[in-house]
Amino acid sequence: MSVKTTCPYCGVGCGVNLIDAQSENERVPSVSGDVDHPANFGRLCVKGSSLAQTIQSDDRLLTPMVDGQPVAWQSAIDTVSAKIAQVVKDHGPDAFAFYLSGQILTEDYYVANKLAKGFIGTANVDTNSRLCMASAVVGYKRAFGSDTVPCNYEDLECCDLLIMVGSNAAWTHPILYQRIAAAKKQRPSMRVVVIDPRETATCDIADLHLAIKPGSDAAIFSFLLSDSAQAGILDHDFIANHTNGFASALAQANESTPCVSFTANFCGISEQSLTSLLGWWRDTPKTVTFYSQGVNQSSSGVDKCNAIINCHLATGRIGKQGAGPFSITGQPNAMGGREVGGLANQLAAHMDFATPGAQDLVQRFWQAPNMATENGLKAVDLFQAMEKGKVKVVWIMSTNPMVSLPDTAQVRRALEKCELVIVSDCKAHTDTTAMADVLFPATGWSEKDGTVTNSERRISRQRGLLPAPGDAKHDWWAICEVAKSLGFQAAFSYQGAHDIFAEHAALSAFENEGKRDFDIGHFSRITKAEYDALVPVQWPVPEGRPQGTKRMFEDKRFFTPDGRARFVAIVPSLPKTQASQEWPFTLNTGRVRDQWHTMTRTGDAASLAKHTAQPYVEIHPKEAKRLGIQDKSLVRLTSPYGEVLLKAKLSRAVAPGNVFVPIHWTQQFANASVVSNLIPQVVDPLSGQPELKHAQVQLEAV
Ligand code: SF4
Repeated sequence: MSVKTTCPYCGVGCGVNLIDAQSENERVPSVSGDVDHPANFGRLCVKGSSLAQTIQSDDRLLTPMVDGQPVAWQSAIDTVSAKIAQVVKDHGPDAFAFYLSGQILTEDYYVANKLAKGFIGTANVDTNSRLCMASAVVGYKRAFGSDTVPCNYEDLECCDLLIMVGSNAAWTHPILYQRIAAAKKQRPSMRVVVIDPRETATCDIADLHLAIKPGSDAAIFSFLLSDSAQAGILDHDFIANHTNGFASALAQANESTPCVSFTANFCGISEQSLTSLLGWWRDTPKTVTFYSQGVNQSSSGVDKCNAIINCHLATGRIGKQGAGPFSITGQPNAMGGREVGGLANQLAAHMDFATPGAQDLVQRFWQAPNMATENGLKAVDLFQAMEKGKVKVVWIMSTNPMVSLPDTAQVRRALEKCELVIVSDCKAHTDTTAMADVLFPATGWSEKDGTVTNSERRISRQRGLLPAPGDAKHDWWAICEVAKSLGFQAAFSYQGAHDIFAEHAALSAFENEGKRDFDIGHFSRITKAEYDALVPVQWPVPEGRPQGTKRMFEDKRFFTPDGRARFVAIVPSLPKTQASQEWPFTLNTGRVRDQWHTMTRTGDAASLAKHTAQPYVEIHPKEAKRLGIQDKSLVRLTSPYGEVLLKAKLSRAVAPGNVFVPIHWTQQFANASVVSNLIPQVVDPLSGQPELKHAQVQLEAV
């Protein structure tokens, strides 16, 4: 038996053939790349190729648990719904919250969002996607009036200049990187520029690497805007007829980054390297700027995104083949969650609470009795509200905030303060399941059915093939059972995932008529058979356009009230915390090639540990010598928030004064190595995205 499904690891969203053979009464699952999937055309990276090793984990959560005791599902559901009802009655709906994940499927997200925002009456529905792409969302909305990714993967292959900012795609989005590398090999005139404080594996294909001062990215694009005006490469017709705000954005750019030497000095790079980038930008209309967590995980992430978008708008490099500002999401379904409103500041179907008429529209569509009326709490604020006792019940689904959120000690205090912590997960033992009062065993990849949306807006099916182990149930099912137990039977009586997807599609098209970007109305009446046979397609997929939409803004119309894109005046700023005598080293965080998130899945694949077996801190040899630190010796890193112990890895990939630590290891895998212990809860004021890429630390040889 086999099914076509989608890799659960990253935002590339590769198609996977999952095969289940029988051998002496044992299941023998295996995977291969799906040659028909337009994201990967049959290729898989090393993580995707090893998926079969992670399916039959010894650490599956197999039964519901309440206070450490196994119970029947109905008992666990009754416990949860009784507590939610009591807390809402005593303290109001905002005493309840969901904390979701870019790992769950769109259908799971949809019912969680509907239950909270339409039936319980709170918008406290946030997600670990807040840590991944929230700044990109706000940047797009400020510029386009909508959360719309303009480009597609083909644009990466056919552009003449690719500027990769804050992305180590070689390790984090390997199949996209391989596609880019293959395109460059075939067409060596294609130039690649990497803007990153570290010399990463992605630099292997770079014609130019700008090793900028951490967090200084916006200044480069601010100066690029000024220089575009001075060089006479502005698209005056596009600016005049399809945008607003150009004059003030340019004036601010001229003031903030007045010349090459100022900008080069601000960013800590040579004038010569900056001049090379300027020359290539001037000469190359087919330019894509590809950006990821290095841009988004910043206290000024939104401004960085808009600094990039400004340059593309000013030169008309958008809505065309091989041109555009392209944010690459980290997680397999970070975009699917956005589509259904899975962020505390969204309502549903890319509508916000502030969208005129949106609350009324969604309330009528859902027939909702208790509509939330304003934004809920974003991730960091949500956990702070738990510590203050304002949020009393939290339902965490498929994520590990005890490792992934900044300032782990605060997250622990927050969960300890809650009256009820519900955790839905596949795994029995994570740093977060250890904090749960109620555990719901969830089905996992290879068992569950639904859809995900990748970084190029492509909706693909995840398909279940293997039976759920023990009492594991689908996340959407658990949410609906709790909803029904709370008295909302009619609105949550779905027959299956396809039923939820059809309702989600119908909501996206409800009274839309092209006013909003997200519309998949073509699927409003999808049957189960059609859902089962769904082939990958890029949204929007409105009625009458079943082939979907390859590229956005080709018609130069945006989703602002007047249809014009908006420039945003940007003042480049550096990270909130800066080096001091006490905390002299700048910490950067990121991923290693063969691990994923907090290793709850990849930690099960023995072959993946070969590339990087242990956590480490990358230190420049000059600094190591000064501090008496040897390669592979133990180093203590301290910050005002905590400490970690790591093995030193001496490397010239980091600049003197900087260190790098991977994010993956948890208390489950290596004691005292959770890097988020060191990171302050500093967030971008507009997106709420934490500055996870930056902290100030001290080092000492142990
Ligand atoms: Fe999976 Fe991403 Fe690798 Fe593709 S590139 S196989 S989606 S981890």
